[in-house]
Amino acid sequence: MKNKSHNPVVDRLTDRLLDAGFHKEQIVTEEILRTCYGYDATRQSAAPLMALLPENELQVKTILKLATEKNLKIFPRGAGSGMSGGTIPSSDGIIISLTRMRRIIEIDEANMIATVEPGVVTGELQEEVGRYGLFYPPDPASLAFSTIGGNVTENAGGPRAVKYGVTGNFVKGLEAYLINGEKITCGNKCVKSVSGYDLTSLLVGSEGTLAVITKILLKLLPAPESVKTSLLAFSSMTAAAHAVNAMFKHQINPSTIEFLDHHSLNAVRSELPFTLPDATDTVLLVEIDGSAAQVENQNLKLKELFKDAALLLIAAQDESEREQLWLARRKLSPAIANIAPHKINEDIAVPLAAIPEVIAKLEKLSQKINLPIVCFGHAGDGNIHVNVMLDKSDPDQAERGRTAIDEIFAITLKAGGTLSGEHGIGNTKSAYFDKEWDPLTIAVMRAVKKAFDPDNRLNPGKIFPAESSSSEPAARGN
Ligand SMILES: Cc1cc2nc3c(=O)[nH]c(=O)nc-3n(C[C@H](O)[C@H](O)[C@H](O)COP(=O)(O)OP(=O)(O)OC[C@H]3O[C@@H](n4cnc5c(N)ncnc54)[C@H](O)[C@@H]3O)c2cc1C
Repeated sequence: MKNKSHNPVVDRLTDRLLDAGFHKEQIVTEEILRTCYGYDATRQSAAPLMALLPENELQVKTILKLATEKNLKIFPRGAGSGMSGGTIPSSDGIIISLTRMRRIIEIDEANMIATVEPGVVTGELQEEVGRYGLFYPPDPASLAFSTIGGNVTENAGGPRAVKYGVTGNFVKGLEAYLINGEKITCGNKCVKSVSGYDLTSLLVGSEGTLAVITKILLKLLPAPESVKTSLLAFSSMTAAAHAVNAMFKHQINPSTIEFLDHHSLNAVRSELPFTLPDATDTVLLVEIDGSAAQVENQNLKLKELFKDAALLLIAAQDESEREQLWLARRKLSPAIANIAPHKINEDIAVPLAAIPEVIAKLEKLSQKINLPIVCFGHAGDGNIHVNVMLDKSDPDQAERGRTAIDEIFAITLKAGGTLSGEHGIGNTKSAYFDKEWDPLTIAVMRAVKKAFDPDNRLNPGKIFPAESSSSEPAARGN
């Protein structure tokens, strides 16, 4: 017997989906379960009308056709690890969760291309291609649980972006369904291709607002033969930033250059395998990969270049020391929670040369608002994770935190930076979007959105500043 909800629209849709071959467990209608599909890492949550769990592209098509018939909104979703509210639904919309579409369809060794469904977990793909001696470099810190579909639509990046680039640099092609249930195909396996508008790149970073991605072609590389991680300690952020610049100038090409400011260091100092000199203010974690000879040669150069400028330069001697270094970096986010009960986290990116100036301004801001601002992130690509630490239950601190965000974005944009290096705009930064882009540029972007989704039914309320309240998601944050 079919379970009935208290909503006739949901009941009619459920009947149609069951008739179309969906199994009961693919149709989530109970409120408590629906809510499980309406949260993300911003801690917002909202119960959608229903959540649907398609297992193949035909089922995606069926859902979109039915939603179009009923004029319902659609909110695509991967693992829900997004940091900008990109997947938060409204109460009158359907969540379409892609996590059951998790087949690695093909690993084409000859062309070095993997074809995958969107629900494949990033780390699982990396492991699988590793078995073929191949390498998929994008490494968001969430790789153990985030999906390739989510990575593509957020254009996710990680520490290795310095050398290899972000997810978008590896997307060769896509298959995607438009909101009306029609399929488009973009890109191909060719190394070069200049044939019409590059829709693949347009869909990368589109935050689920243009189409539902059902198949992805990803470029692979030969796996590096060797990798070595070093820790460099500096007496100031400026000295560390100059060191990054010097590495590039001297043709040292690390795969990763991560930085930890003094607040971050204090949070994980005890986790590091090395004792830091007392004068240490900023630490760089530098990883070099390639053939054994290249790694050896580049590390010699690194030692020579910083033998005087760094307070300490020490390389991990074995895999366990290397893992300990990275563990400390990965523990950073939870470790800073000891500083204050809450954090407001932004992921601004600035041109490399602007890093010291921006960090200095953030220090001043921290003094002005009397709240700690912890900075760490990807020194090699200018992507700084800025964490305002506060107790939101104190109304005064909460207000100072809100002011801080306005100022952080103002400092960033003045320095030629951008609101987001990797987490996207979603619904958390949409109010600031028109501070970064001029009205005509936004109008062109809105026209693109309209071409894909004329009735604004696909993931409404994301990226663009609100025009009317009716399409805003009914989310609650904390
Ligand atoms: C602990 C932690 C660490 C993180 N570290 C990083 C990091 O280092 N780098 C980084 O870039 N991000 C990081 N993130 C953020 C997040 O993991 C990434 O944005 C990731 O790409 C989201 O993937 P997801 O599968 O969770 O997508 P979701 O959060 O479910 O969705 C993200 C967006 O993609 C859309 N979407 C998902 N799948 C599809 C699809 N098939 N078709 C169309 N639209 C779709 C959704 O509508 C939404 O707008 C981190 C998050 C956490 C919690």
